[in-house]
Amino acid sequence: MTNILISGGSVAGPALAFWLRAYGFNPTVVERAPALRTGGYKIDIRGAALEVVDRMGLRDEVARNGTDMRIARFVDATGRQLASMSAQLFGGREGDDVEIMRGDLARILYDATENDVEYLFDDSITALEETADGVRVTFENGPPRTFDLVVGADGLHSNVRALAFGEESAYIHDLGHYISIFTVPNHLDLDRTEMMHPAPGRSAGMYSTGRSGDAKAMFLFASAPLSYDRRDIAEQRKLLAEIFAGQGWEVPRLLDAMADAPDFYLDSISQVRMDAWSSGRVVLVGDAAYGPSPASGQGTSLALVGAYVLAGSLAAAAGDHRAGFAAYENDMRHFVEENQKLAANNLKGMVLKSAAQIRFQMFLLRLMPHLPGKDSMIKRVTEPIRKAATAITLKNYQGDRTGR
Ligand SMILES: Cc1cc2nc3c(=O)[nH]c(=O)nc-3n(C[C@H](O)[C@H](O)[C@H](O)COP(=O)(O)OP(=O)(O)OC[C@H]3O[C@@H](n4cnc5c(N)ncnc54)[C@H](O)[C@@H]3O)c2cc1C
Repeated sequence: MTNILISGGSVAGPALAFWLRAYGFNPTVVERAPALRTGGYKIDIRGAALEVVDRMGLRDEVARNGTDMRIARFVDATGRQLASMSAQLFGGREGDDVEIMRGDLARILYDATENDVEYLFDDSITALEETADGVRVTFENGPPRTFDLVVGADGLHSNVRALAFGEESAYIHDLGHYISIFTVPNHLDLDRTEMMHPAPGRSAGMYSTGRSGDAKAMFLFASAPLSYDRRDIAEQRKLLAEIFAGQGWEVPRLLDAMADAPDFYLDSISQVRMDAWSSGRVVLVGDAAYGPSPASGQGTSLALVGAYVLAGSLAAAAGDHRAGFAAYENDMRHFVEENQKLAANNLKGMVLKSAAQIRFQMFLLRLMPHLPGKDSMIKRVTEPIRKAATAITLKNYQGDRTGR
């Protein structure tokens, strides 16, 4: 049996474990968090990724857990509504796009794999030593073990990538913005509603999906690279409070609530760009290899499709990892590039530069429902996303599905 260690138990890791198991490989997932991380924000699954979820037999389960958002409202510093947009307006066509909380998706993928995949929580790889027929892996907590292959599915700041490919600064490309998200009490009683308060160079918001009693606060801002300790949450909270100091609407209240948030998150909006996603017996999948950034809205879809293509390519190559990795890179590259291209343009609309730009965008949104050409305007926004999300034809991998 081919033993494969996957670092990371969020989206790409469990999805890969699912397919590897289906083809008769023996995957083990190591996750740094002490238990399944169920927190997170809303993410989209579109196009080819939805087809992958279908092939996993999880489409109904994913749809049942959808966010079912109704409306986005844009407000000024006093809370006065500037414009609104129904969720359907820019959503995909019915059935084309499912929005779900990242934590709900991670739980669905974990539930689908936990019975026949070994999960090691609360641990992390400390060293990889490749030999002629395997990789000797040492862990922070558990004893050393040898695997045939190692996969990094451990996100934007991938540990496996650092160990096998070197410093992340060579691969992470900052898109000039930061994002912060954390859980807050739903003090506005939002029901499947998103509120956004745009200001020049920064935007604050809050939404509740109706699937949980609380809400998420979200902050976006343009900035040159900031220097802070990624493990020091107190320092990051202080930074965010300084950047949004003096802003109106509910911003002071949301900033106050961040002290109690169990899941405070702040990071640059960045893309991972690499010439090769494998080195010897080590390969990367999902954000670790080609994170397109939250601004693309396609990170989860790339992770799901990447997991499917990587497992299928290994199965089709009868376990010959060199051939399997080459086929994976070959089949995924165009799809990744098309989706990464979406981020820069999306960002322009997410964080507006000036008060005049904000006024113009709000004016357009108010006008939109009444314009005769509204359908073609909406299509101009949604069509590039649809095209990128379907820019791959999924193969039907065979594999012998007998204990490799
Ligand atoms: C704020 C935000 C908003 C987003 N919005 C969207 C969106 O709207 N649409 C969309 O499609 N995508 C969105 N994304 C991106 C999406 O979440 C990712 O692209 C997707 O989760 C990729 O999955 P992944 O499994 O590759 O990585 P991740 O989900 O980042 O998972 C990596 C996993 O590896 C674990 N890990 C890290 N280090 C180690 C280690 N040393 N050892 C073991 N385990 C480790 C982590 O704990 C985590 O569980 C957003 C991301 C963020 C941060």
